[in-house]
Amino acid sequence: MTQPVTLTLNAGSSSLKFSLYDISGEPVQMAVGLVENIGRQPRLKANLGEALPRAERDLAASEAADHKSALATVLALLREHFPAARASVVGHRVVHGGPRYSEPMTVTEPVMDELKRLSPFAPIHQPHNIAGIEAAQAAFPDALQVACFDTAFHRHHPKENDMFALPREYYDKGIRRYGFHGLSYEFVSGELKRIAPQLHAGRVVVAHLGNGASMCGILGGRSVASTMGFTALDGLPMGTRCGQVDPGVIFYMVQQEGRTIDEVRDIFYNKSGLLGLSGISNDMRVLESADVPAAHEAINYFVFRIRRELGGLAAALGGLDALVFCGGIGENSRKIRRRICDGLDWIGLDLDHDRNDDNARVISTEFSRARIMVIPTNEEIVIARAAKRLLQQSAAA
Ligand code: AMP
Repeated sequence: MTQPVTLTLNAGSSSLKFSLYDISGEPVQMAVGLVENIGRQPRLKANLGEALPRAERDLAASEAADHKSALATVLALLREHFPAARASVVGHRVVHGGPRYSEPMTVTEPVMDELKRLSPFAPIHQPHNIAGIEAAQAAFPDALQVACFDTAFHRHHPKENDMFALPREYYDKGIRRYGFHGLSYEFVSGELKRIAPQLHAGRVVVAHLGNGASMCGILGGRSVASTMGFTALDGLPMGTRCGQVDPGVIFYMVQQEGRTIDEVRDIFYNKSGLLGLSGISNDMRVLESADVPAAHEAINYFVFRIRRELGGLAAALGGLDALVFCGGIGENSRKIRRRICDGLDWIGLDLDHDRNDDNARVISTEFSRARIMVIPTNEEIVIARAAKRLLQQSAAA
């Protein structure tokens, strides 16, 4: 007896996140985990289903010297625990699909060429995503590889939300406002359709607030505006990323301070955001419990930018029917949600403090004109569903 499954992979610079889904019906997760510190002191963490204990151990350097060997280690573990599982499709999270891809794609040679061509658009993520696909191609030469893009959900932005006011040739070269976290927004929007179809048909702002953070304005299930732009650096402040800054700051750092572009990039991506402002941590839990002014200021800035963007996105949508929180902070931090919603009755938001403290799904009062909700996101299942769909399509072709 074999069991049809799909493996989903999310390859980062030094990590490989994976999950295994039974796809005989609606995808059901069987296992989830990650290898971290690939190429340095790798460690494996895995949850292999309810009946089995959590596996967590240091790996020998050779077991995860690169993405290829890390995947081989993961597969050995999965084969040991799920001997009947047969993966004929592997789904990959790919950060950038460029202007062309607005849907998940089966990875053919031309698609792979296009993904490589897009690497300069996301130099910190895309090469690792590609390494993950190549590792899976080597491990499963007969399986379909499916790429699911973080940009795809936003590809139908109206043009004025797709452009920068740079010379037109740059738009043609692909310098556009792509938007990211699309797999998360697709999941949340799909959940809204299932549980509150009238809201899904309306004007919704989703706040994905995690270590990476962005917001998206969704009209009738379609993204019309996002706080992230050309890269996943724009918009809200994040754990270590700065969010929106005046590009003039870059000129100043380079011309007046003599920094190299790599140094500036490192500051913007790794030393800014909550970490940079607080000087303590990128972790919201740590900041919430740190009673020092710099931590308060970092939180104040985070909340202020979210409220500002909420107003802008509501204007882009022509009003607001629902605000949905997701991501580690959005799903868990009562304090941050309360501070974001405080005094926003003018936009139709009235938070129910008891429901918010209970972490309920609906956290607005019955008098609130717009609904406030918490919907835990699930990017992996979006990939698993796409992998199953493309496998079925290829079998039918
Ligand atoms: P993510 O990247 O979605 O996993 O989210 C990570 C962020 O969520 C970190 O800043 C965590 O501190 C934050 N987070 C997780 N749980 C909580 C919590 N209970 N309260 C406040 N922040 C939390």
